[in-house]
Order: sequence, then C-alpha cells, then structure tokens
Amino acid sequence: MVPVRLEGRRRERLLVVGGGMAALKLVEELIEHCPDRYDIVMAAKELHAPYNRVLLSSLLAGDAQTADLELRPASWLIEKGVQFLGGVEATAVRPARQEVVLSTGARVGYDRLVLAAGSKAIRPPVPGHMLPGVIAFRDLDDVGAMQRALPGSRAVVIGGGLLGIEAAYGLSKRGLAVTLIHIMPRLMERQLDVRAAELLMAAVESKGVEVVLEGHTAAIEGDGKAERVVLKDGRVLSADLVVIAAGIRPETALAESGGIEIGRGIKVDDKLETNWPGVYAIGECAEHRGICYGIVEPVYEQANALARYLSGRPARYEGSLIAASLKVSGVPVYSMGDFEGEGAEAIVLEDEGAGSYRKLVVRDNRLMGVVLFGDTADAFWYRDLIRQAAPLTPIRALLAFGRAHAEAA
Ligand SMILES: Cc1cc2nc3c(=O)[nH]c(=O)nc-3n(C[C@H](O)[C@H](O)[C@H](O)COP(=O)(O)OP(=O)(O)OC[C@H]3O[C@@H](n4cnc5c(N)ncnc54)[C@H](O)[C@@H]3O)c2cc1C
Repeated sequence: MVPVRLEGRRRERLLVVGGGMAALKLVEELIEHCPDRYDIVMAAKELHAPYNRVLLSSLLAGDAQTADLELRPASWLIEKGVQFLGGVEATAVRPARQEVVLSTGARVGYDRLVLAAGSKAIRPPVPGHMLPGVIAFRDLDDVGAMQRALPGSRAVVIGGGLLGIEAAYGLSKRGLAVTLIHIMPRLMERQLDVRAAELLMAAVESKGVEVVLEGHTAAIEGDGKAERVVLKDGRVLSADLVVIAAGIRPETALAESGGIEIGRGIKVDDKLETNWPGVYAIGECAEHRGICYGIVEPVYEQANALARYLSGRPARYEGSLIAASLKVSGVPVYSMGDFEGEGAEAIVLEDEGAGSYRKLVVRDNRLMGVVLFGDTADAFWYRDLIRQAAPLTPIRALLAFGRAHAEAA
C-alpha cells in the first residue's frame, strides 16, 4: 500500500486517477477550500505534471513553448501535500475493498475515489492503423513526434474536425506538405453551418493545406512504417506521417474493471457520483445525463461542482452549454448552441471583403445559437445572451452588429 500521511485526527483518503485538467482543477479547489480534510494521492499515467492540453495545438504551430503549457509544477503539488505519482497507471479498481491497483503493483486504499481519466483518441480499425508513423493528436508525446517530422516531408491528417484542422495547420506551418482528409461533405460539420464551413475550407486551403472532402480511408500502407494512405475511391496519398484525429472515446477501462456502471462514459449523477457510493467521475471520462463532454469548460464546471460537494458545500451539477472555438487556424471561428436553427429565424451578416460571417439563430424572440467566422470579438457576449435566454426585443435590430452597437442604442 502507498503510505498515506495521518496528522492528528484522521483525514479522509482521496485518490484521484488521472493527472489532466479535470484532476488538477479538482485538487486546486480542494486545497483552497478544505486543505485539512483530505490526504490526496494523484495517480497519473503521463509522466509530466498536469499541463494545458488545449495549448498542444499552439505548441505544434510554434505559437507556444512547452513551458507555456505548465499549469502547476510537480513541486507545487508536493508542497501542498499531494502525493503525485507521475508515470503510474491505475490498472484495476475494487470498489468493494475501496482500493485501486497501480501499474507498479502497489495497491492504494481510499475513502473516496475520483476517476478523471479523460479520453483516448479513436483509431478507426483500417488496415495499417497501428503502423509506426501513424499517431494521434492527444498528448505531449504526439506533438513531439510531429515536431520531429522534417520540413518538406508529407503528412496526411485524417479527420476534419477541430483537432484535425489544428493538426493540419500546425504541420503545414512547420513546412510539411499536408493533406487533410475528411469523411463528411464539409469541415467541422458538427460545429459549423454550411456557409461557415465553406469559408473555413477556403481559409485552410489558403494556408497551403490540401483538403479532400468525402474521403474514406481504406488502408494505411507501407514497408514497416506508414508510407501512403489509400482511399476507397482508389486515390493514393503518399505520407511520411499520418495523424489520425477521428474523435475521442471516454476512458472507461478502469471503471469497467470494478463493475462501475458505464454507458458511453462513466455514468454519474448530479453529484458526479457513480453507482458506487464514494466513487466519482469528472471530465471527459464521465457521462452526465447522457452527455460526454469533449472540451474544457464543462470539465472545469464538473471539477468545481465536485470540489464544492467534497468540501461540504451545497453542490449540484446540472450540465453545461458548450461552445466550440478554433484557435490556431489563423482564422477565428466560434459556434454555440443551436447553430443550424432548423425551423427558427436566422439573422445573417456577411462581409466577403472583410472575410467575416455571422449567423444568429432566434427562436421565440430568444437567441438560441450563433456561428461567428472571422470576427469573434463578441463571442462571449453572444454566449451570455444564449445562456440568459432573455427576450431580445430591445436589441434585436442591432444584434448582428455586435455588443457595442446593441448596447449604445
Ligand atoms: C490537441 C488538443 C486541443 C484541444 N483544444 C481544445 C480547445 O481549444 N478548447 C477546449 O475547450 N478543449 C480543447 N481540447 C480538449 C481538452 O484538452 C480536454 O477537454 C481536457 O483536457 C479534458 O480534461 P480531462 O482531465 O478530462 O482529460 P485529460 O486532460 O485527457 O486528462 C486525463 C489524464 O488521465 C490519464 N489517465 C488515463 N487513464 C489513466 C489511468 N488508468 N491511470 C492514471 N492516469 C490515467 C491520461 O493519461 C491523462 O493524462 C483539446 C484537446 C486536444 C488533445
């Protein structure tokens, strides 16, 4: 068993599995609000201290340095009394015995267990998907592999969602010849309407990335390593590096090992508790009211709610309203809510010369969704209007022109 410090009265033993953004946020909040209540052990598969995963795209594009990603150094955790076990995977959980088995063979007992194991990248099972030279875009090691690719070499990125576009842009900026393959008829179809997706595609191509829409990967081939991607229509794309950005799947293996209830993710209630009392799940591995989130804002909201609960304050997590923003493609893009707006009214403003487009979806005189392309300065103002769901009557005529105009009226 890993030793747990006991000082005077017995503290509760809190074991956190995962050393990502959710785990760190929870631990920070607990240290702030109830520093004496728990002896915290954090088991983290990655060797690095918790870092800002969101900035991996900027790191790849050369707009951030590795040091910029640091959230808290391991020394901070130690100073605060947290036992940080970096490079250690939790391999099994036994809820009935209140213990977790680690990859080191050690068993750690707990009074409360928080699963914050994030997601893993999906690799579609096409032939060759495990060849050397085929990577995901999930962690610092993946970015390291992309940084080692030589300028002038060829990269194929599979997946035209947010991460695929950011990977393609970053690689292109590093001097690689990049082809981006997307299976759907438009980029980011889950976040953008048709017009914004067209504008985005033109912007991505203008950065030197070749885009193939409705491209179905049949196989990745090569002699001992990836050398080409073969599409179902017979096209062959040569590749020194293949990056798969085809979505994520909540990390549920550990929960499954202990018979904890899972759906797509680890099922939790409004206290972020699983079907086992005292076992909680937050972040991308959790499924709350049928939803698994894949961005940081809800992950932090869950961590905050659980920290409130675990520090004895009233807390209830009721779900999050999420937004998507693309940060490194060189073109700001933002969308939130019901951006398609089927059967609703749409206010659309496009300035082709300035390369800006905005669509506001209005239903029952309330703002329900927004798509912004080119100019996202008012994104948070629109976000707040959607959240408040207040009647638009006083500002509706000026809504599309942004906050300054609407509020001056
Ligand atoms: C390239 C990239 C760009 C992104 N850009 C954005 C963005 O612009 N905006 C946005 O909102 N979100 C973005 N995201 C998503 C955001 O990073 C995630 O939503 C967030 O990191 C999720 O936090 P988490 O703690 O749930 O999971 P993670 O950050 O994945 O942390 C989970 C950790 O748990 C570890 N782990 C897993 N299983 C075990 C185990 N059994 N034992 C021990 N440790 C384990 C994992 O190795 C990992 O380190 C991006 C993600 C990526 C990859």
